[in-house]
Parts: sequence; structure tokens; C-alpha cells
Amino acid sequence: MRLRILSGLGLLAAATILSGCDSQPSTVKLADTKADAAAKLKASKVAKAQFAAKIKANELGQIPVLMFHRIIDKPGSTDDRTPQQFRADLERLAREGYVPITAAEMVTGKIDIPAGKHPVVLTFDDSSPSQLTLNEVGVPAPNTAVAILQEVAAKHPGFRPKATFYVTRDMFGKTVPEEQAQTLVWLKDNGFDIGNHTRDHINLRGRSQKEVEEQIGSIGKQINSLTHINPVTIALPYGNQPSKREWALHGGKLYNHQGAFLAGYTPAASPFSKAFDPVGIPRIKVMEKKGDCKQFCSEAWLDWLKTNPDMIYTSDGDVSTVAYPKFKTPYLRKAFVKWSLPY
Ligand SMILES: [Zn+2]
Repeated sequence: MRLRILSGLGLLAAATILSGCDSQPSTVKLADTKADAAAKLKASKVAKAQFAAKIKANELGQIPVLMFHRIIDKPGSTDDRTPQQFRADLERLAREGYVPITAAEMVTGKIDIPAGKHPVVLTFDDSSPSQLTLNEVGVPAPNTAVAILQEVAAKHPGFRPKATFYVTRDMFGKTVPEEQAQTLVWLKDNGFDIGNHTRDHINLRGRSQKEVEEQIGSIGKQINSLTHINPVTIALPYGNQPSKREWALHGGKLYNHQGAFLAGYTPAASPFSKAFDPVGIPRIKVMEKKGDCKQFCSEAWLDWLKTNPDMIYTSDGDVSTVAYPKFKTPYLRKAFVKWSLPY
């Protein structure tokens, strides 16, 4: 409020006020009455809602969470993408108004992207060297996932180079603790998100609670000892949940995740929607519309979201509000009522 009044006085006057005396002039305080403030707040909320309506913001819409594995020249299976394919995947996302956010940002509702843009979560499983290998001075090797993501982001202003890496004991092919630390700390320092993918990449279905906690807790501890961070989310190997689904999220003092990601087959619900289930968040395999992927992989879903724009999450550009068409109000999670901006 005060800043707005100051800016009206012109730069020179403002500079005099800021540097010339200790207290604010009384005229500024008088103008800043409570009634005035309330009226302005209401007006700004109306203006925000009008803006949200204009750009068709829908922060209760769906978010594609894309699942990548290796980025290699000679794919060994349909889980792998070539560098060329991966570049094209990212180019399409940039062209269609998507902005990458991390899995941690998604599950905690910190979706801070420009108005009119759609969040997409890029996830990489199994901590393979094809995702990130650093040279002797800490620069990602050409054609690794991280290098390609950074290149595409540099070409498309606003396309954030953000992604989540789900780590197992494979640690990007590094066996020496110092090298593991270099790689994981590089990710952390460059704004990437590190998630848990269990130590030995085992199928957690049918395992005892002790085994589940050991598998998740031990790699979590290793990540913490190398980077001093605790993963916010986990991706379940093969998408298989343990007997009690909550074991993936909470493991006594060992770990406390805010989201567990699966391995199929639909876009995910917005974290602000009642449809959001932190214990089982779906992901989408990245693959063209063919074979098993005719309907439920990335090309098919991105096509579907493009032709159903009312279904997709569209940001209003304001991270402090949850904007959506009023008709969708019944789907708003109670925890977010305070931030709601229906229009
Ligand atoms: Zn995996």
C-alpha cells in the first residue's frame, strides 16, 4: 500500500522521503485507512477474478506428469527416448504453452508459472548417466537429458529447466561417494528436484512394512547425507504400491513424503482438487500413439488436452490464488478455500 502511494509521488520525492527522515509523513498514514485498504483489496480481488476469467484460468484442471527413463541413441525398450525424440517432446510442450514445474512444487501447490500457461512435470526414473553426466568442471555432457532440457529452455524464454529425478542406488552411474555428491549437489544447486525411487528398485507389492521402510528409508538417508535435503516425493518402482499405500509416504522417522507417483496412465489431478490423491499420483509414459500407447501415453494425452482446453490446468499467474470457473467450486479442496478465486 505505502509503496503504491510513494510511487505516485515521483521518484525524486520518494527518494527524499526514504532517505530524508526516519518516520513516514503523516499524510501517507492518513491515506492508508482501514476502509480504504479493504475497498482496495476487494477491488483487486474483482480485478483478479476478471483477469482469471479473461484468460480462462483453471487451477483445478489436470496436469500431465511425464515419465522418462533413459535418453539414449539406441533405445533398448519403449521406455527410452533418443536425444532427438526428447528434444521434440520438449519443443512440443514449449509450443503448446506448457511450463515445467517439479514434482515437489506440484504436490505442495507452489505452481508459480505465468498467466495462461499450463504446468507439466518432467520426471526421470532410475538415475541413469544418460540423464546427467558432468564433465570435470561440472558441465552436463551433450545429449544428456539435463543438457537438452537446458538448451530447449534457453531457446524458449519462460520454459523453465525444471525436472524431478527419481534416484536409486545407481546414482547416475557413480559409485564413489564424492562423485555421487558432485552429481546430486549439482542437481540441487541448479534448481532440480531429487526424489526417492527406493534403494534397489524393488517391487514393493507384498513386502513387509520393515522391508518397505528399509528400501525407501536407506536411499532417502543416503540422498540426505550427500545433499542435506530430504526428498519430497517418491516414484514407486513399476508403479506398484505397498500393501498399505501410506507406507510409501510415511516411514516413522526415516522419511515423510508429500506425494507418491505411479507409472500410468492418465494426467494427474490438480493438487487443489478433491480428486488429488497424494498416495497415488498418476504419470504418463512418453511415447507416440502406437501399439500399447494408442490411448494412454503422452502423445495421445497431449492431443486430448489440446482438444479439451476446459480440462487442463491453466494458471492465472498468481501463486497466491487458486482461480477456476465458479461451476467447478464443489471440487475445491477445503484446505485451499482461503486462496480460492472463483469467477
Ligand atoms: Zn524405475
